[in-house]
Amino acid sequence: MQIPISKPLQFGYNLIAMLALAWIFLTLPAVLPASDHQVVLCLENQKQLSSGALHSFRDALAQLGPLVGATITFRCEDLRPPFVIVTLRQEPRLTQPDNALAAMRTEDGRVLPRMELYLKPIHSLLPARLEVLEGRALAWVAGHELLHFLSQRQHHDHRGWFAAELNTAMLLMPPSAYRQK
Ligand SMILES: [Zn+2]
Repeated sequence: MQIPISKPLQFGYNLIAMLALAWIFLTLPAVLPASDHQVVLCLENQKQLSSGALHSFRDALAQLGPLVGATITFRCEDLRPPFVIVTLRQEPRLTQPDNALAAMRTEDGRVLPRMELYLKPIHSLLPARLEVLEGRALAWVAGHELLHFLSQRQHHDHRGWFAAELNTAMLLMPPSAYRQK
């Protein structure tokens, strides 16, 4: 697959990391994308997830679509913009904090459609390795990163799911419960 990356050495990473201080109140992001995007997510290395966790992830992320102003589908064939390549890694890169949950690539002030999700730090926030919880947590993290790309925002809200740090309570919340708030 050809990814249009022209200057790989200049990439920076936009990180979110675990929240160790206190629970955060859940509020809608201050800025929601106005338009309804159709976004395709291509998930690399998906065999690192069990089939149950993968199903939970896709289901929860599709439910989060309205929060990011997008209809989200999954495939890796016939990719045309807008699409995002999502790579599952066990651990963050060496240049990142150990507790980073995910990163988006950026270049020249733009958020690129390349996302990495880090499984071990996300697992460490879960009370149990239940597939439904694992998939749901991955979906919240991926949804957060997706909003960086769709809105081209690199700064965060002070609280809520678009804050710089996400906690366990946030990651375990069913998307349907959040939308009802
Ligand atoms: Zn972020």
